[in-house]
Amino acid sequence: MRTSPGICQRKAQYPDEAAALTVAARAPFPLRPYRCELCRHFHLTGRTRGMKLPQFELERRRSAAPR
Ligand SMILES: [Zn+2]
Repeated sequence: MRTSPGICQRKAQYPDEAAALTVAARAPFPLRPYRCELCRHFHLTGRTRGMKLPQFELERRRSAAPR
């Protein structure tokens, strides 16, 4: 993923994917961790369209799906 320096500096940085996933799992909206090419840390993005969703998000959607 391409990341602009401005976005990198504005976003929270996480030292590894597990840390980013922990935060994403607590968020009330879908967030996906990705590794930043600039700072080599992880950021979270709300743009999940067309991306592979993390496991907790798949389970959340499965359990929340109306019948
Ligand atoms: Zn970054």
